[in-house]
Amino acid sequence: MSRRCLAGGRGVKQLSGNLDMKINRRSFLQMNAAVGAGLLAQGVEFSAAARPAGATKPNDHAYVDRIAFGPWMNDTRMDPLPFSGWPAEGFDDVTVNSLIRTFDLNQAYGYNIYDIFGLFATWGWPDDIESAATPERAARVRKVIKAAHERKIKVIPGMGVYSWGFDEIIKKHPEVAGTNEHAMCASKEASWKWQQKLVDFMMKWDIDGFHLEAADLGRCTCAECLKRWPRNPAYYNYVTSRTAQYIRGKMPGAYLMLTTISWADWNTGFTDQDKDALVEISKNVDCIFDQGHHSCYVRPPERKPFIERLHCRFGTSGGLWAYPTHLWDRLQWFLPYPKQTGAHLKELYADGGRGMLYYQGPPNNPGVEINIAFGGQLMCNVDKSVEENLSHVLERLYQPKSPAALAKLVQVVLGAEDAYFNSMEWDEKHRYLKGNKAYPGPGELHLSRPITGIYGTPDYLLEPQLTQDGRKAYNAKLEACLKDVHALGDQFKAQARMKRLQTAMLNTLMMVRTAISTQQWEEQLEKERKKSP
Ligand SMILES: [Zn+2]
Repeated sequence: MSRRCLAGGRGVKQLSGNLDMKINRRSFLQMNAAVGAGLLAQGVEFSAAARPAGATKPNDHAYVDRIAFGPWMNDTRMDPLPFSGWPAEGFDDVTVNSLIRTFDLNQAYGYNIYDIFGLFATWGWPDDIESAATPERAARVRKVIKAAHERKIKVIPGMGVYSWGFDEIIKKHPEVAGTNEHAMCASKEASWKWQQKLVDFMMKWDIDGFHLEAADLGRCTCAECLKRWPRNPAYYNYVTSRTAQYIRGKMPGAYLMLTTISWADWNTGFTDQDKDALVEISKNVDCIFDQGHHSCYVRPPERKPFIERLHCRFGTSGGLWAYPTHLWDRLQWFLPYPKQTGAHLKELYADGGRGMLYYQGPPNNPGVEINIAFGGQLMCNVDKSVEENLSHVLERLYQPKSPAALAKLVQVVLGAEDAYFNSMEWDEKHRYLKGNKAYPGPGELHLSRPITGIYGTPDYLLEPQLTQDGRKAYNAKLEACLKDVHALGDQFKAQARMKRLQTAMLNTLMMVRTAISTQQWEEQLEKERKKSP
């Protein structure tokens, strides 16, 4: 989750473009027999709860905390919400069914935790708290948690620590207010009572722990807070540690993790004081996530020695992820990124990282489905190559009729990834976008910025991510991929899925062309304006 709506870029070591992948015929046939045929017999391409036979299991080189990160309850929604604000507030049957479909995918590919914000509130809990759980909403939340547990997936709700969710409480209770409309004042003991009340309320549900997040919306900077905690790390450490210890006291078996979003300056990363504060707090949580919305705060070569100092596990969000938009049709984009995240996951694992907080999205979008499945598959098989893991995923999802068809589909997906990411406008060190030196990244790549800008614009196709030359390059390369996937169409048993893939690629291509032609038209108009007096 992030309210940060600006784009940046994280340097990701590029894999060799030369795909030298050989698919083992025996493993292909075994896989098809075990998974594809059985599901086909049921008349479905991807079936839900009971498919343990084909499910991915972690091998000896696997991440421990394999977290599917919603992040918001409607970010996985299988229908669009074109007139809703962000984050979308509702919790209806589509929300529920979309989450359950996502759990199916998570279970099939080895995730063990689902992390979700917004079960009962987004910006503001009501000040009686309880009324957020209307009978309808409570029933739906129970259904979601039960469905995850049936699939052996733990559920942790996102819990704002002194911020996120407190806007209404701050408005109505001046005794918790400080200088920030979104964050309670940490110097006031009344604030702590409200934090306790929220934790107590969430513990009434059948949850397995908490995601603690203190810094995303900033802190209180009143005179008292600045005097007690002149530096941010000490402030965030105080409120997070206190909350973590309180939860531990009441729920000893709780899984606890924290994210450091907005904890430090994006350009400089963690200072020594930040690191010392995190080492201290690592005694109270199971995992610390330096997610990397604008690149991670701690990067190699400092990452490995930092991880070794911690008393808990350490993780990221995969180096780069696309944050979906609830506004568009679910087949409006196709943006797979196995090479980007695959390279990052392997490097992080080698440095000792064992946590992965992997962003989800609507599972009926073909690129999102591939990303989610691939992420889980690689988390369970870090020793296997990106191509091997991707091949395994595509074989199960698309049920190719031959190894050659599978190999070609792997190339199409990697080609579509390169088509976008190799057209981005990075600087020489692949850390900043040339048109945005304010902060590194992405990081978190917004398809459409959720708060700023015209609602629904395809920001990921526009500057600073892509220039006009970049859009033209993306257009040409994606068109080639679409031609390949059309030629391949009948060589897969999962025909409905193949059709969705083709549609999403076509829609993406047309959106790119719209952006190109709009700019060309404006340039033409400008020329004519200059000619005529
Ligand atoms: Zn204060």
